[in-house]
Amino acid sequence: MQQLISISDIRLREDESPSCASDPVFPVAENLCRVVSNEWVNPEYKHLVLDAPPTALTAKPGQFFHLACPPADDQTAFLRRPMSLYRVSPDRGQIEFLYKVQGVGTRGLAFLEAGDTLDALGPVGRGFTLPEGAQHVLLLARGVGLATLAPLAEFAVAQGAAVTALLSARSRGLVMSADYLREVGAQIRIVTDDENNSDVVHVEQLIREVHAQRPFDLLATCGSNRLLILLQQLAKAFGIPGQTALEQHMGCALGACFACVRAFRKPGADTQLTYRRVCCDGPVFDLQETVSW
Ligand SMILES: Cc1cc2nc3c(=O)[nH]c(=O)nc-3n(C[C@H](O)[C@H](O)[C@H](O)COP(=O)(O)OP(=O)(O)OC[C@H]3O[C@@H](n4cnc5c(N)ncnc54)[C@H](O)[C@@H]3O)c2cc1C
Repeated sequence: MQQLISISDIRLREDESPSCASDPVFPVAENLCRVVSNEWVNPEYKHLVLDAPPTALTAKPGQFFHLACPPADDQTAFLRRPMSLYRVSPDRGQIEFLYKVQGVGTRGLAFLEAGDTLDALGPVGRGFTLPEGAQHVLLLARGVGLATLAPLAEFAVAQGAAVTALLSARSRGLVMSADYLREVGAQIRIVTDDENNSDVVHVEQLIREVHAQRPFDLLATCGSNRLLILLQQLAKAFGIPGQTALEQHMGCALGACFACVRAFRKPGADTQLTYRRVCCDGPVFDLQETVSW
């Protein structure tokens, strides 16, 4: 295992970093990981399990790795691809990812087989934070957003909070991770397009019902613009904080290239904007500061 440890354990510190002045979340290392398994979970998504060196095992919910994807057919992704931590097991020495196979990068990942090596730069970015004494956390996820939110469930339960995970998908067959989330102690609610209950009106009603029974003190979401807007409204109405993990095409993932800059509302100001890098100022941001897309 030790031989697999980073070829260049770059261990950037805040004062050494070229540009991540706002982000003290280090070290970051280039981890050479051994593929344990890489299986389809449904027709669109694969679950990748890696043996990983110690730096990678420090990853927290909401952080991500920048993966050097292998070639797909005759094409190779020029840039690395960001992928959220789906699960970390320090005792087993493993990290996991859940990814949608779509472009050249993820098609290359899909070719990985047990025993192959994958270069995973990370852990990168600022993850989720739980309010002190949090009692009940809502995770609202659609599609690949689930990959990002799943480890927050495990973390929140370990901190003594109850978790309700509201999973939205096109159909029941595309709902992922319900077993994993139940296993870590989350209450699961599923809504689907097929059942006509995944629209904003139904989702809002469901969240209000659960909140009335057991008030939430954090709302977290990832993966859908309409769900982001809904949670912004509900968090304001309930008077509680919220966080969202954003996805943005990026270059270096270390704050140097500024390819992933997005507009955000200034803290406490509804109309004034500021600009931040998703890679190192996020990818998890305050819900009310996030500008929908
Ligand atoms: C922090 C973070 C965490 C992520 N975590 C996950 C995860 O856990 N699982 C997962 O499946 N995905 C995740 N993603 C998304 C994933 O990194 C992207 O979808 C990635 O681009 C896939 O690479 P690809 O080469 O397969 O597809 P790409 O070729 O990059 O194409 C993917 C999609 O993006 C579109 N696209 C390509 N370039 C651009 C561009 N410049 N601007 C706008 N759209 C463009 C394409 O048309 C296509 O629809 C995450 C992204 C971020 C930023």
